[in-house]
Amino acid sequence: MAEARASEVLLLMGPPGAGKGTQADHLAQARGLMKLSTGDMLRSHVRRGTDLGAKAQAIMAAGDLVPDDLIVAMVRETLAAQDVVAVVLDGFPRTPVQAAALDTLLAERETGITAAIALEVAEDELVQRLLQRAAEQDRSDDNETTIRTRMQVYQQMTQPLLDYYRQRGKLHYVEGLGSVDDVFARLQKVLA
Ligand code: ADP
Repeated sequence: MAEARASEVLLLMGPPGAGKGTQADHLAQARGLMKLSTGDMLRSHVRRGTDLGAKAQAIMAAGDLVPDDLIVAMVRETLAAQDVVAVVLDGFPRTPVQAAALDTLLAERETGITAAIALEVAEDELVQRLLQRAAEQDRSDDNETTIRTRMQVYQQMTQPLLDYYRQRGKLHYVEGLGSVDDVFARLQKVLA
């Protein structure tokens, strides 16, 4: 019988505009992982006009966080589809409640977090990138007011989670400035 593949759970953390989505795509491709982006999933719900989309739309447009129970249910359902959990998480967990729920979910699947990576980018660069993306992609939450809210929400709710993973010996910092390939090379080095 073929040996079952090993479980791998990577968390990409960092402020809005740090490049989590792009690097998550590359990691998923290179390491054979499913990319699970809660932001992408929510935007898909909004586009499809689901109940969840209806609940999330105004919250996202304001730059606030969608309630934890809705997010956790979405993640749980997605992970349940994998025989062996092999995933890169982009934009989740974002709150202490979500982090605790993830630990429980993974324990139920007899696995745990492989590594959490914090992408570091200076704040003025982040704002530049988000405004640029606003011009290119027409994302309704990429305007200056919402960007400021998302930065604050990140600092208050999500940044403290870095300590949670540091204390567990899972946290790695990666410099997020430079080309996509440069950043990806740093990520792979940290995970080697
Ligand atoms: P960014 O990190 O660039 O702000 P995302 O695509 O990750 O973009 O998230 C966009 C929005 O979707 C967030 O501002 C928030 O409203 C919602 N969202 C995404 N992930 C979560 C989550 N884990 N918990 C709560 N809300 C979320």
